[in-house]
Amino acid sequence: MSLQGKTALVTGSTSGIGLGLAASLAAAGARVILNGFGDVEQAREQIARLGAQPGYHGADLGDPEQIADMMRYAEREFGGVDILVNNAGIQHVAPADRFPVDKWNAIIAINLSSVFHTSRLALPGMRRRNWGRIINLASVHGLVASKDKSAYVAAKHGVVGLTKTLALETARTPITCNAICPGWVLTPLVQQQIDQRIAAGVDPQQARDDLLAEKQPSQEFVTPQQLGELALFLCSEAAVQVRGAAWNMDGGWLAQ
Ligand code: NAD
Repeated sequence: MSLQGKTALVTGSTSGIGLGLAASLAAAGARVILNGFGDVEQAREQIARLGAQPGYHGADLGDPEQIADMMRYAEREFGGVDILVNNAGIQHVAPADRFPVDKWNAIIAINLSSVFHTSRLALPGMRRRNWGRIINLASVHGLVASKDKSAYVAAKHGVVGLTKTLALETARTPITCNAICPGWVLTPLVQQQIDQRIAAGVDPQQARDDLLAEKQPSQEFVTPQQLGELALFLCSEAAVQVRGAAWNMDGGWLAQ
C-alpha cells in the first residue's frame, strides 16, 4: 500500500510503539511528523533512512497550548495532518488509595485529553481534504482492568469511548477513527514494570516470564512492527468501513 502524499503525525514517537508505527508509515511512503522526548536525533535518523526527512515538534502533550502549537506547525510546514496516530502515553502503578494526585492528573492529560485536543484540531483539515485516519493507541486496559492502574485504565477506557464518538461524528465521510488495543509490548514503558519486579529480587528472565504469564496466553510480546502492519491496514481503503473499532492485538489476553 502506498501512503505517498499523506502526512502522518505520530505522538510519542521517539521510542517504543510510536517509533515503530512511524517507521511503518514512513516505509509506506507517508511524510512523518515525530513528537516526544528523549533521543530525538536517533528517532529522526531512523525514520529518515526509510523515507523523507521527518518533521518534529516537541510539544508536551499534557499542555493543550503546546498541542495547538504542534498542530499549527503541521498545518504550516506539511499542509495539515492526514493520518493522526495518538500514541503518547505514560504509566504509574499504585493502589488507588495511594495513587499520587499529580500522577493521576498527568495520565489523564497525556493519555486521554491530548487525544481530544489533537483530534479536534486535525478534523477540520481532514474534512476540507475529504480524507483522514485517526488511530488511537489505547490498550487492552481500554477494555478490561488490572489492579493498581486506576488512572491508566480510566484514561484508556476514555480513549475507547472517544474513539467511538469520533467515529460516529465522521461516519458519513471518508475519515475513520479506530483504536488499537495492544497487550504487552516490550518497550521502555513495560521494561519499567519488569524492572520493579527485578528490584524486588526476581531474576530478570523470571520477571519477564511472570509478567507475560499473568495476562498474555501466547507468552510472547506483541511487537511494534506487528502493530505497524495493523495501522497500515486501518489506513487502507479496505478498512474504510472499520469505524469505531477497539481492535485488540494481545496474544489472547482478552480471550480469557
Ligand atoms: P514508551 O514509554 O516507549 O513511549 C512513550 C512515548 O511517548 C515516548 O516517545 C515519550 O517521549 C512520549 N511521551 C511521554 N510523555 C509525553 C508527553 N507529555 N508529551 C509528548 N510525548 C510524551 O511507551 P510505549 O510502550 O511505546 O507506549 C506507547 C503507547 O502505547 C502508550 O499510549 C501506551 O499506553 C500504549 N500501550 C503500550 C503497551 C505496552 O505494552 N508497551 C500496551 C498497550 C498500550
